[in-house]
Amino acid sequence: MARACPVQSPPRNAIIVRQGLGRTSLPIMVHKFDAVILGAGAAGLMCAIEAGKRGRRVAVLERADRAGKKILISGGGRCNFTNLHCRPEHFYSANPHFAKSALARYEPSDFIALVERHHIPYHEKTLGQLFCDRSSQDIVDLLETECRAAGVQIILNSNIQEVRRADEFIVRTDSGEFLAPVLVVATGGLSIPKLGATSLGYDLARQFGMKIRETRPALVPLLLGTNDRAQYCDLAGVSAEVEVSADHSSFREKMLITHRGLSGPAILQISTYWREQTSIRIDLAPGRDVTLPIREAKERNMAAARSALQGTLPKRFATRWLDLHAPPDWTNRALEKLEGQVHEWVVEPAGTEGYEKAEVTVGGVDTDELSSKTMESRRVPGLFFIGEVVDVTGHLGGFNFQWAWASGAAAGRAL
Ligand SMILES: Cc1cc2nc3c(=O)[nH]c(=O)nc-3n(C[C@H](O)[C@H](O)[C@H](O)COP(=O)(O)OP(=O)(O)OC[C@H]3O[C@@H](n4cnc5c(N)ncnc54)[C@H](O)[C@@H]3O)c2cc1C
Repeated sequence: MARACPVQSPPRNAIIVRQGLGRTSLPIMVHKFDAVILGAGAAGLMCAIEAGKRGRRVAVLERADRAGKKILISGGGRCNFTNLHCRPEHFYSANPHFAKSALARYEPSDFIALVERHHIPYHEKTLGQLFCDRSSQDIVDLLETECRAAGVQIILNSNIQEVRRADEFIVRTDSGEFLAPVLVVATGGLSIPKLGATSLGYDLARQFGMKIRETRPALVPLLLGTNDRAQYCDLAGVSAEVEVSADHSSFREKMLITHRGLSGPAILQISTYWREQTSIRIDLAPGRDVTLPIREAKERNMAAARSALQGTLPKRFATRWLDLHAPPDWTNRALEKLEGQVHEWVVEPAGTEGYEKAEVTVGGVDTDELSSKTMESRRVPGLFFIGEVVDVTGHLGGFNFQWAWASGAAAGRAL
């Protein structure tokens, strides 16, 4: 049986109808609302708050037993809820202009104001990334409190069986039918299936004839091929600041060697841009002249090379790199080649760690299908898509939540 939270009582305006005419037919509860939102994640809750504040009667149907589960595990439990330097270029989409309007109308400062109104302590960690001092629970509490104040009903454990459109949208669940002239799909992406991710959003978009951009896991560790794995993965745990590039994008952040491949912020960032069977290029010592000390050494030999590389790269990695790339001699030409190799390690990943480890899903509902102002479908009036289910993916660093807040607010204000 579905449980309503934070408002526990059944919907004010519920009426009872009979399903079918047979003797075994059971009564179905029919709940009428101004708007039904599917998914009580970041985007769905923000949308509900904005619509509720405007006097709309809003129901949020959530499959899980609590709201905002992904928020709870985000940012290592401290929710990196926004980024001070949020700009459209921090988002990946087939249409890089689509996100601009919503992002401009709900800025990081708007969410920060909300956080401050709820007296939630926070700090800037690095690169404009804002995290809770205590825990992500603070952000979920904030959203639930705002929902309660706006009269929003969050119905947990909702098993959505069918969505159809007659005069209104009808969402059939185990606990009854929800009717509304407006349906907002905020069911997120496919990452972390064990938290309850489903393809419902994409399925609904297809059902209503909308285009989907191919989905793939992103902000995800990359797997090395057999050879590279044999050569480097025993160094698991070693990390270095690198500049990694692919598909005309590059990121200068930390890279971490794992038991199966590469991770760390630099790799997670580039995973969004990486496509199967292509390579990434890693500058292991960005902006540094690694072989200068060898060239200037009294004697150019392996000891001088080791000391030079160990001065720039992590010790164990430097030793391994030299074992695998030992120059044939110590001429300027050989050293130039060694310098070049350090600045351009070309790696062809064998794959990614998949949706189980991905923070987000790239692709989704094609932005051509939606109004960039309101997130409403161009084909189906009254149908909205917000958050990660849309083909807009933020970089690592609080940008995905900012998109969830901004797209949720854009839709919520239009209901
Ligand atoms: C481990 C991890 C850490 C992250 N950390 C950060 C971070 O610190 N900062 C940041 O900006 N981003 C972070 N992200 C990304 C961020 O969590 C998402 O981009 C964001 O939550 C997307 O919001 P959303 O509302 O679109 O989707 P979600 O938050 O995923 O919400 C979708 C909701 O819909 C529900 N749902 C799904 N299917 C159904 C169905 N069939 N019926 C009913 N309900 C359904 C889900 O249970 C869920 O509650 C992280 C992601 C992960 C996995």
